[in-house]
Amino acid sequence: MTLRTPPIPAAAEWAGLGALVLATTATIAGRGAGPGTAIRHLYVVAALVGALRFGLAGGVAVAALAVLLDAPLLLESIETWGLGAAAAEGCVTVALVVVAGGLAGALVNRARRRLDRYQTVLALQRALAGRPLAEGLLLAGAALRRLLRAEAVELAVRGEDGAWVGARGRRPLQPGSAGAWVAERGRSLYLPDAPPGARSASPRRVLVVPLVAGGQALGVAGVARRLGFSRDERAAIEALGAQVALALENARLRDDLESRIAAATRRLVELDRAKSEFVAIASHELRTPLTSLRGFSELLLFRRCREEEQRHFLAVIHAEAERLGRILDDLLDLARIESGQCADLRPAPLAVAPVLRARAEAFLAQGATHRFRVAAPAGLPAALVDRDALERILTNLVSNAVKYSPAGSEVRLLAAATGPRVEIAVEDDGAGIAPDALPRIFDPYYRAPGGGRGARGLGLGLALVKSLVEASGGAIRVDSAPGAGSRFTVSLPRVP
Ligand code: ADP
Repeated sequence: MTLRTPPIPAAAEWAGLGALVLATTATIAGRGAGPGTAIRHLYVVAALVGALRFGLAGGVAVAALAVLLDAPLLLESIETWGLGAAAAEGCVTVALVVVAGGLAGALVNRARRRLDRYQTVLALQRALAGRPLAEGLLLAGAALRRLLRAEAVELAVRGEDGAWVGARGRRPLQPGSAGAWVAERGRSLYLPDAPPGARSASPRRVLVVPLVAGGQALGVAGVARRLGFSRDERAAIEALGAQVALALENARLRDDLESRIAAATRRLVELDRAKSEFVAIASHELRTPLTSLRGFSELLLFRRCREEEQRHFLAVIHAEAERLGRILDDLLDLARIESGQCADLRPAPLAVAPVLRARAEAFLAQGATHRFRVAAPAGLPAALVDRDALERILTNLVSNAVKYSPAGSEVRLLAAATGPRVEIAVEDDGAGIAPDALPRIFDPYYRAPGGGRGARGLGLGLALVKSLVEASGGAIRVDSAPGAGSRFTVSLPRVP
């Protein structure tokens, strides 16, 4: 629990100051000490306290009271003793009281105005951050109205889509209005006269200022007040406009930063989840061939087998060892992708059609269950690409096409020249990819949910393909829809 001293009422403070001045006068008069006595400095103290507490009004009021009370004593002393040193000191004190009260009061007023302004700017920052724009503008308008003691304050700013937003929601500035004029020119406008047709006896004067930050007009503020605005006030309100614009800009930057951080955090969480999933899948993928290797090698070691059986077991062992090798290659590739050094590429002019045919034949030779069609126009220009990289790109794309499309369907490997590029497409008639999975299929570890008939994989193939294509100065895109097959198109630089 905090204990707070209750605030002293202002009337009591005024009374205290009055009493101090009276007591000072009474002491000077009662003691007959004369106008030069040191006690007279209490007038200055009272005037300063008055100024600090109540600003210019306090300083001037206390100084006036002191002068009123002290002047008769001072005059009497001058009449009696003449204008001696004591009387001169008394005169200096009176002048000092007036100057100290007035000056300190003016300074305090100025400091308070500044403080008010800073506090309002702070309130604006808070009002504008993390709220819908229209609501923030309503609060900001109210804060400005209080600060400027205005009858009305209207704010209009450009929303993110460029449309004008006001405190009452979307309400474009009327063409030809003062606000539109100011927004267009970036200059303030003062309307000191009653608008034509105004019925009120004391019409409001209107000042419209641009809200400029970084040389850009973000919006306009209109302030209406019956008393009008002095030149100084107009300059101060223009400066305030710049601060409001900064507050707006800050709020925007903050919102932007917050949404970016939120997106980055979401992505990190997703990546983390995908990585854990990857570890689970990878260990499963490693265990399956290992189990086969162990089982079949035990059979060969401990059981007497016919030669035919032995050959079969050895073939299985060989296939599983190959599979282990491929998984290890994928893992090594992953490490390369993550460290950013995709591959040591040596681009050279390469005729792509023979490479496409060789890939299709390699898949057929491995006993692929699909039909392959290769098509490339005669006279297709050579691509400028590393042969090994292109083979790995094609192997991954074709093995996906085979994995994710039904046995017996066709896989097409097509090439064509488009402008300064050679385009290679791998097409299949498989299940296709859901639209929400499409933007992520090139991410490492990502596997689209329900990816065709439980096809195996580590979610690394397309990430590696993308890195290889980009490192070759090319680009890859995918066209796919559920049930409509997939088409992966790689565009590579061609020989000029
Ligand atoms: P993997 O095939 O090992 O899962 P990839 O990185 O090669 O990893 O592919 C990522 C995901 O993209 C796959 O899990 C699959 O869901 C989807 N995908 C890739 N190619 C195709 C394709 N031709 N047809 C349908 N889905 C595909």
